[in-house]
Amino acid sequence: MADLSNPAVVRALLARHQLRLKKGLGQNFLVNPGVCPRMAQAAGAGPEVGALEIGPGIGVLTTQLAERCQKVVAVELDQSLAPALEETLQDFSNVEIVWGDFLKLDLEALLGKFGDLPVIVCANLPYYITTPILMRLLESRLPLQSITVLLQKETAQRICATLPSRQAGAITAAIAWYSQPELLFTVSKGSFLPAPKVDSAVVRLTLRREPPVLVEDEVMLFRVIRGAFAQRRKTLLNGLSAALELSKVELTPLLVQAEVDPGARAEQLDLEAFARIANRLTRPGSQS
Ligand code: SAM
Repeated sequence: MADLSNPAVVRALLARHQLRLKKGLGQNFLVNPGVCPRMAQAAGAGPEVGALEIGPGIGVLTTQLAERCQKVVAVELDQSLAPALEETLQDFSNVEIVWGDFLKLDLEALLGKFGDLPVIVCANLPYYITTPILMRLLESRLPLQSITVLLQKETAQRICATLPSRQAGAITAAIAWYSQPELLFTVSKGSFLPAPKVDSAVVRLTLRREPPVLVEDEVMLFRVIRGAFAQRRKTLLNGLSAALELSKVELTPLLVQAEVDPGARAEQLDLEAFARIANRLTRPGSQS
């Protein structure tokens, strides 16, 4: 089997199939031999599970997953990679490539391909759509075991920031709502071909079976979180009144009843506080 973590082998493969890497599709392929086995292991790859990969590229992580897992389903947008993938995956009968845009595919149908197998997600994500991919996976509420992904270090740090903290953003709160994130290890720019401008990191999300806080209307919770962080320098009162189209006179007592200082900033709130605000907005007159 070709060593896909050797840049010379990758260049030769690309040349053989007349392929040019597409920057617009986030095609930075891993060429550090240590990273893919470590990712597969951290993801919980094993004979009892199936692995869903997003963006196999030329298959460097796919082969590592295929060696360990019972089945691999890999979704790739760039069909010009087909001949190269056919070559690199020729020794594996347990890999299915699904051609298409991950953001548009029917995820339930995708998961159906694994039958009764528990499913892990393991991927080196295209950086231009990291957040939409993660949110789509989480919002789908599919029974995934875990999501282990390689992404830009800065995004990884924001995803894994504690709440509340200055590093926290809307994505921190959203990820914490659905999962328990961990930053596992960093990966240098030089581990990719071509090298991106910034370092990367591997994050593992362990999905929660139950929401961490009671909230009556999840849609409202996310409106509050997004609204609060949209203008993070503003006070909650100013930010939320603009985002929710409520006057400050209407909003102030609701925030006070939710035990939140109207003069606080989004980065000072934990999930419980966001939930209390959302619950107040859902049922303004209630005592709880
Ligand atoms: N897994 C390979 C590796 O680690 O070297 C490639 C990772 S590369 C960062 C991201 C891959 O995602 C590329 O192969 C790219 O073509 C693919 N991709 C980009 N947008 C996509 C989308 N919307 N749906 C599925 N795959 C996509």
